[in-house]
Amino acid sequence: MLSKRNFLLSLLALSLLLLPPSLASSNATSPFRATITDVSGVQATIHNVTALRKGGFSLFGGGGGESGETKLSLQYGMAEISLPFQSIARLELEKPASKYCEVIVYLRNGKQLKAKIKSQLQIQGKLPSNATYKIKAMYIKSLTFSKQTASLQRCPTCKRHYLEKSWKFCPYDGQKLQTK
Ligand SMILES: [Zn+2]
Repeated sequence: MLSKRNFLLSLLALSLLLLPPSLASSNATSPFRATITDVSGVQATIHNVTALRKGGFSLFGGGGGESGETKLSLQYGMAEISLPFQSIARLELEKPASKYCEVIVYLRNGKQLKAKIKSQLQIQGKLPSNATYKIKAMYIKSLTFSKQTASLQRCPTCKRHYLEKSWKFCPYDGQKLQTK
Protein backbone atom coordinates (compact mmCIF):
# COMPACT_ATOMS: atom_id res chain seq x y z
CA MET A 1 0.00 0.00 0.00
CA LEU A 2 1.21 3.47 -0.82
CA SER A 3 1.09 5.91 2.05
CA LYS A 4 -0.39 9.31 1.29
CA ARG A 5 3.05 10.90 1.57
CA ASN A 6 4.62 8.44 -0.84
CA PHE A 7 1.75 8.93 -3.21
CA LEU A 8 2.31 12.69 -3.21
CA LEU A 9 6.04 12.18 -3.72
CA SER A 10 5.38 9.93 -6.70
CA LEU A 11 3.04 12.55 -8.12
CA LEU A 12 5.78 15.14 -7.77
CA ALA A 13 8.32 12.82 -9.38
CA LEU A 14 5.89 12.17 -12.20
CA SER A 15 5.28 15.87 -12.78
CA LEU A 16 9.06 16.34 -12.99
CA LEU A 17 9.24 13.69 -15.67
CA LEU A 18 6.59 15.52 -17.63
CA LEU A 19 8.49 18.79 -17.70
CA PRO A 20 9.66 19.77 -21.17
CA PRO A 21 13.08 18.45 -22.20
CA SER A 22 15.98 20.86 -22.17
CA LEU A 23 16.62 22.98 -25.23
CA ALA A 24 20.16 21.84 -25.80
CA SER A 25 21.61 19.43 -23.32
CA SER A 26 25.11 19.06 -24.69
CA ASN A 27 25.82 22.17 -26.72
CA ALA A 28 29.04 24.09 -26.29
CA THR A 29 27.04 27.26 -25.64
CA SER A 30 24.16 27.65 -23.28
CA PRO A 31 21.52 30.39 -23.29
CA PHE A 32 21.27 30.34 -19.50
CA ARG A 33 22.40 33.02 -17.08
CA ALA A 34 22.71 32.66 -13.33
CA THR A 35 23.54 34.68 -10.27
CA ILE A 36 25.58 32.65 -7.82
CA THR A 37 26.36 33.48 -4.21
CA ASP A 38 29.18 31.33 -2.86
CA VAL A 39 29.70 30.24 0.74
CA SER A 40 32.11 33.14 1.34
CA GLY A 41 29.35 35.60 0.35
CA VAL A 42 30.80 36.62 -3.01
CA GLN A 43 28.22 37.04 -5.73
CA ALA A 44 28.70 36.70 -9.47
CA THR A 45 26.40 36.78 -12.47
CA ILE A 46 27.47 34.45 -15.23
CA HIS A 47 26.17 33.57 -18.66
CA ASN A 48 26.65 30.48 -20.79
CA VAL A 49 25.89 28.40 -17.70
CA THR A 50 26.43 24.66 -17.82
CA ALA A 51 26.90 21.86 -15.31
CA LEU A 52 29.88 19.56 -15.56
CA ARG A 53 29.66 16.21 -13.86
CA LYS A 54 33.03 14.94 -12.65
CA GLY A 55 33.94 11.81 -14.56
CA GLY A 56 30.80 11.92 -16.64
CA PHE A 57 31.65 14.68 -19.04
CA SER A 58 33.69 12.78 -21.62
CA LEU A 59 30.47 11.44 -23.12
CA PHE A 60 29.19 14.93 -23.80
CA GLY A 61 32.51 16.73 -23.87
CA GLY A 62 33.86 17.68 -27.24
CA GLY A 63 36.26 20.59 -26.97
CA GLY A 64 38.31 19.02 -24.20
CA GLY A 65 35.40 18.21 -21.92
CA GLU A 66 34.86 21.85 -21.04
CA SER A 67 31.29 21.97 -22.28
CA GLY A 68 28.66 20.73 -19.91
CA GLU A 69 24.99 20.01 -19.74
CA THR A 70 22.14 22.47 -19.35
CA LYS A 71 20.50 20.22 -16.81
CA LEU A 72 21.18 19.23 -13.26
CA SER A 73 21.56 15.68 -11.99
CA LEU A 74 20.06 15.29 -8.54
CA GLN A 75 19.63 12.49 -6.09
CA TYR A 76 15.93 12.36 -5.26
CA GLY A 77 15.23 9.78 -2.60
CA MET A 78 16.63 6.60 -4.05
CA ALA A 79 16.35 7.87 -7.61
CA GLU A 80 18.48 10.03 -9.82
CA ILE A 81 16.67 12.77 -11.65
CA SER A 82 17.84 15.08 -14.38
CA LEU A 83 16.33 18.53 -14.18
CA PRO A 84 16.59 20.99 -17.11
CA PHE A 85 17.85 24.47 -16.15
CA GLN A 86 14.76 26.02 -17.69
CA SER A 87 12.58 24.34 -15.06
CA ILE A 88 14.65 25.78 -12.21
CA ALA A 89 14.17 29.24 -10.71
CA ARG A 90 16.50 28.99 -7.76
CA LEU A 91 18.70 26.59 -5.79
CA GLU A 92 19.53 26.86 -2.12
CA LEU A 93 22.20 24.59 -0.74
CA GLU A 94 22.63 23.45 2.81
CA LYS A 95 26.07 23.38 4.37
CA PRO A 96 28.75 21.48 2.44
CA ALA A 97 29.03 17.75 2.92
CA SER A 98 31.65 15.30 1.72
CA LYS A 99 29.77 13.55 -1.06
CA TYR A 100 26.33 15.11 -1.39
CA CYS A 101 24.85 18.45 -0.36
CA GLU A 102 21.21 18.90 0.52
CA VAL A 103 19.56 21.25 -1.93
CA ILE A 104 16.17 22.92 -2.12
CA VAL A 105 15.13 23.48 -5.71
CA TYR A 106 12.55 26.17 -6.37
CA LEU A 107 10.93 25.22 -9.64
CA ARG A 108 9.49 27.61 -12.21
CA ASN A 109 6.09 25.98 -11.74
CA GLY A 110 6.06 27.26 -8.15
CA LYS A 111 6.81 23.90 -6.56
CA GLN A 112 9.75 23.03 -4.35
CA LEU A 113 11.89 19.97 -4.37
CA LYS A 114 14.22 18.71 -1.67
CA ALA A 115 17.04 16.69 -3.15
CA LYS A 116 20.76 16.04 -2.98
CA ILE A 117 23.43 17.29 -5.34
CA LYS A 118 26.92 15.88 -5.82
CA SER A 119 29.37 18.07 -3.89
CA GLN A 120 31.92 17.82 -6.70
CA LEU A 121 29.48 18.76 -9.45
CA GLN A 122 30.83 21.82 -11.18
CA ILE A 123 28.80 24.78 -12.37
CA GLN A 124 30.58 26.89 -14.92
CA GLY A 125 29.97 29.93 -17.06
CA LYS A 126 31.39 33.22 -18.24
CA LEU A 127 31.66 36.48 -16.35
CA PRO A 128 30.71 39.69 -18.22
CA SER A 129 34.45 40.18 -18.85
CA ASN A 130 34.34 36.76 -20.57
CA ALA A 131 36.56 35.30 -17.86
CA THR A 132 35.72 31.68 -17.12
CA TYR A 133 33.94 31.05 -13.84
CA LYS A 134 33.87 27.59 -12.25
CA ILE A 135 32.53 26.54 -8.89
CA LYS A 136 31.87 23.23 -7.18
CA ALA A 137 28.35 22.68 -5.90
CA MET A 138 29.62 22.37 -2.32
CA TYR A 139 30.82 25.99 -2.41
CA ILE A 140 27.53 27.41 -3.68
CA LYS A 141 25.16 28.98 -1.19
CA SER A 142 22.47 29.92 -3.66
CA LEU A 143 21.99 30.05 -7.40
CA THR A 144 19.27 31.97 -9.21
CA PHE A 145 18.69 31.48 -12.89
CA SER A 146 18.00 34.83 -14.49
CA LYS A 147 15.99 35.51 -17.58
CA GLN A 148 17.71 36.33 -20.82
CA THR A 149 18.01 40.09 -21.18
CA ALA A 150 16.91 41.84 -24.36
CA SER A 151 20.42 43.18 -24.81
CA LEU A 152 21.89 39.73 -25.11
CA GLN A 153 23.31 39.24 -28.57
CA ARG A 154 23.68 36.00 -30.44
CA CYS A 155 25.90 34.95 -33.34
CA PRO A 156 23.81 33.15 -35.98
CA THR A 157 26.85 31.15 -37.15
CA CYS A 158 28.52 29.79 -34.03
CA LYS A 159 25.50 30.33 -31.71
CA ARG A 160 27.61 32.02 -29.02
CA HIS A 161 25.94 34.61 -26.78
CA TYR A 162 27.40 37.97 -25.83
CA LEU A 163 26.44 40.44 -23.14
CA GLU A 164 28.47 43.31 -24.59
CA LYS A 165 25.99 45.74 -26.13
CA SER A 166 28.63 47.62 -28.11
CA TRP A 167 29.78 44.58 -30.08
CA LYS A 168 28.47 44.43 -33.62
CA PHE A 169 30.34 41.39 -34.90
CA CYS A 170 31.26 37.98 -33.51
CA PRO A 171 34.93 37.99 -32.43
CA TYR A 172 35.26 34.34 -33.51
CA ASP A 173 33.91 34.42 -37.04
CA GLY A 174 33.09 38.06 -37.86
CA GLN A 175 29.41 37.33 -38.36
CA LYS A 176 27.00 40.20 -37.64
CA LEU A 177 25.46 39.68 -34.19
CA GLN A 178 21.71 39.51 -33.72
CA THR A 179 19.81 40.87 -30.75
CA LYS A 180 17.45 38.32 -29.26
ZN1 LIG B 1 30.22 33.51 -34.12
